[in-house]
Amino acid sequence: IKTIGILTSGGDAPGMNAAIRAVVRKAISNGVKVKGIKRGYQGLLNEEIVDMQARSVSDIIQRGGTVLGTARCQEFKTEAGQKKGAEICHKHGIDGLVVIGGDGSYQGAQALSRHGINTIGLPGTIDLDIACTDYTIGFDTAVNTAMQAIDKVRDTSSSHERCSIIEVMGRNAGYIALWCGVANGAEDILLPEKYDYNEQNIINNIINNRKRGKTHHLIINAEGIGHSTSMARRIEAATGVETRATILGYMQRGGSPTCKDRYYASIMGCLAADILCEGKTNRVIGYRHGEFQDFDIEDALAMQKDIPEYEYRISKLLAI
Ligand code: ADP
Repeated sequence: IKTIGILTSGGDAPGMNAAIRAVVRKAISNGVKVKGIKRGYQGLLNEEIVDMQARSVSDIIQRGGTVLGTARCQEFKTEAGQKKGAEICHKHGIDGLVVIGGDGSYQGAQALSRHGINTIGLPGTIDLDIACTDYTIGFDTAVNTAMQAIDKVRDTSSSHERCSIIEVMGRNAGYIALWCGVANGAEDILLPEKYDYNEQNIINNIINNRKRGKTHHLIINAEGIGHSTSMARRIEAATGVETRATILGYMQRGGSPTCKDRYYASIMGCLAADILCEGKTNRVIGYRHGEFQDFDIEDALAMQKDIPEYEYRISKLLAI
């Protein structure tokens, strides 16, 4: 491997910059050149490719988002798009590529690997919805941002003795909702993996909690369930308790990454550069059973994970 490329793809996540910095600097220290590809696979097809030096990644470790930019690219889902992408890599001398993103981005990496470009994926998403890893770059920052925002809503909710429904991100996964639900002491936690769509249970819970002297009722709802505003209207009508919905939205994707996200992203970025330099391809880096590991992309995509049953059960129990 003489030159590696790096791109970020799919949704941005805090810590991606720390990963970019680590890939660039570790590759350089391994004696390999690095090229940055802007705007994900779309930027690759547009040949938005820049040389990167150690100084190109100065002063970015503390910044949210991704300095390379990210995009979604339909064309790259086609065989023709993937072939063109591989040809552009060859043309620019890129023989290895680090892709920071989620499962969709890994499929793009897998396609490039089939076309002779060595590829390594890094798990970059706030949603934690990548099965081969217990940690994804950005999750820690996102849950901390959401937790702090929820604390603030809770203050005003208590003062007014309201019920608050707070919707957090996570796409179809409930990890952000579960973590915030536990960390914020929510009375109800609605996860796409578990929710039975029976609002009567929530309504009964609110009425019982009022009888037992609770002055507020905090419901953490996951993006994958959604409809928080209409849910609030129905709950208010059924309980007589003033109910408000707050959708946290994109604030959860931004902000300066936490120490954990900077640290893990730095280690993972270095590993990706090392593995590429060893000549490996079609791998993704994960953190599992307490250590950093790499997996075949095919195996990684076939893995499944679910909300841990015990953690879900105690989340309900702690809100009595
Ligand atoms: P994530 O990587 O976070 O899962 P997406 O699913 O939006 O996000 O995927 C990001 C990009 O990866 C897509 O816009 C597309 O360019 C590429 N991609 C997704 N799925 C595939 C696929 N099956 N084959 C090739 N490229 C894909």
